[in-house]
Amino acid sequence: MAAIYYKTNEEIELIRNSSLLVGKTLAEVAKIIKPGVKTSELDKVAEQFIRDNGGTPSFKGYHGFPFTLCVSANSVVVHGFPGAYELKDGDIVSVDCGVYMNGFHGDSAYTFTVGQVKAETLRLLKVTKECLQKGIELSVTGRRLGDVSHAIQEHAEGNGYSVVRELVGHGVGKDLHESPEVPNYGKRGSGPVLQEGLVIAIEPMINQGKKGVKTESDGWTIRTIDNMPSAHFEHTVAVRAGKADVLSTFEYIEAVLNKQQQLVS
Ligand code: MG
Ligand code: MG
Repeated sequence: MAAIYYKTNEEIELIRNSSLLVGKTLAEVAKIIKPGVKTSELDKVAEQFIRDNGGTPSFKGYHGFPFTLCVSANSVVVHGFPGAYELKDGDIVSVDCGVYMNGFHGDSAYTFTVGQVKAETLRLLKVTKECLQKGIELSVTGRRLGDVSHAIQEHAEGNGYSVVRELVGHGVGKDLHESPEVPNYGKRGSGPVLQEGLVIAIEPMINQGKKGVKTESDGWTIRTIDNMPSAHFEHTVAVRAGKADVLSTFEYIEAVLNKQQQLVS
């Protein structure tokens, strides 16, 4: 495995700036998510917003990925292509976004609901987001990476869900994907000891059904083998003593979602 590159406080602030722009971009996306919208529209809005704010989309061109966003609806786990698909009532859609600015990346993802979503699917989203929170809580100096992974797995499986094995979180910095890998499953007490300066993207991908996934013929789209829904939430996080510093944020997204909620109720 490649060496882990530990960041200075100045570098962490640059990663925070990139990560904040990701959060604001996802809030712009949240504003237009509704039944009937094409997922290509989400991509267009996100790319424009990132560029207007001085960033570059991290994903576009990354190993040949053609878009700004990964847009992954329902049984698509991650890496879905934005395109002609129109979101429909009852869908869930994971939107994953990266921003590169001032030499550093930020990476975050949120799974949105479209119209009225089944209660059992809402529960999958809630538990997946809790898994992310459990991982963040253990991202403190002196813990081991396996503690983070184990906490995520335990919460997902304890709620009757399964954890995707083929895709994992990662270090974030000058490169979008750095060492170490951050699996969403693992053994407590295993792996490297977490130290100040480690910046990781924690991104549980949790399936309602079985854990197996397959890659579609476009070479990117990852879908559950049983075609059951999958959820995905991601934050970029700096390890600190006592309490992790979450560099990305859902605050802007959730302000938009709360406002929409008030308008319908
Ligand atoms: Mg991501
Ligand atoms: Mg990531």
